[in-house]
Amino acid sequence: MKAMLFTRQGSPLVHTEVPDPRPNDQQLLLRVLACGVCRTDLHVIDGDLPNPKLPLIPGHEIVGEVIEKGAKVDRFAIGDRIGVPWLGWTCGECYYCQTDRENLCDMARFTGYQIDGGYAELTVADQRYCFSIDDFYSDIDAAPLLCAGLIGYRALKLAGDGQELGIYGFGAAAHIVAQVAMHERRKVYAFTREHDTAAQDFARQLGAVWAGPSTVLPPRPLDAALIFAPVGALIPAALQAIAKGGTVVCAGIHMTDIPAFPYSLLWGERVLRSVANLTRADGLEFLSLAPGIPVNTRTIAYPLSQANEALADLRAGRFSGAAVLIPSLG
Ligand SMILES: [Zn+2]
Ligand SMILES: [Zn+2]
Repeated sequence: MKAMLFTRQGSPLVHTEVPDPRPNDQQLLLRVLACGVCRTDLHVIDGDLPNPKLPLIPGHEIVGEVIEKGAKVDRFAIGDRIGVPWLGWTCGECYYCQTDRENLCDMARFTGYQIDGGYAELTVADQRYCFSIDDFYSDIDAAPLLCAGLIGYRALKLAGDGQELGIYGFGAAAHIVAQVAMHERRKVYAFTREHDTAAQDFARQLGAVWAGPSTVLPPRPLDAALIFAPVGALIPAALQAIAKGGTVVCAGIHMTDIPAFPYSLLWGERVLRSVANLTRADGLEFLSLAPGIPVNTRTIAYPLSQANEALADLRAGRFSGAAVLIPSLG
């Protein structure tokens, strides 16, 4: 099959022919219909995340068609369209798994990091971590739900139920989570890079009550803020923007260092926390809610062979919404 292969930190992915993967007892063999491009893929490729599998096929927002089932697979049928998320395997036995926090599993393995992912024509995935995809969604539109959507949704839940919600970094996750928040009758304040008026316009089109650069304070104190941009300096900015008792949730897997800031920004029972990965329960909950709201995704299609261009465009902030690789486009 054709795949985009990550072989070495700092060098572009290589479009190459690799052997077709074979499913083990618990795995499904999938024809990849679409695979979202996530900022975490950049962190893997840039070396921000240690010890990836090498060589590696990145990609953890996979929409695929089941074409073969391992001997012990008891879910899904040949021809089903399913989604494969970031959480690829957990031990089921550690302290975290035993306390309903499999997202924190000590032994967890992640798709497109320790397990080959969806930047390819075929992939295999453990059936126990896969989700059904609702017919409401096309292949391309479903892909960003599988990480930007799931982890964005988990971040929103951890922010509490305050009405005034700030979102720092208005990309793939933000444009999904904003729709969920507005469905819950919250008001969304969108913060972007200094001169990114395209992202600010995009946020207003989606219904944000305010959009502006992250360097300014919103028109009123916020109840909570989600940070999706990988920029540590946004933490003191967001703490400054929230009211007493408010929560700042850092939703990315990696951030640049956090600058020192005065304790007074945290004082007043403000809460600062991260969100890590997802549980299968998060996925089931979000994917059953999304078509009813409905959450609509804005996607930009790239042929599989242009994964490097998609990653470069993501890095430079050259599109609004989510990039998705489509193997059938070449
Ligand atoms: Zn575990
Ligand atoms: Zn992701």
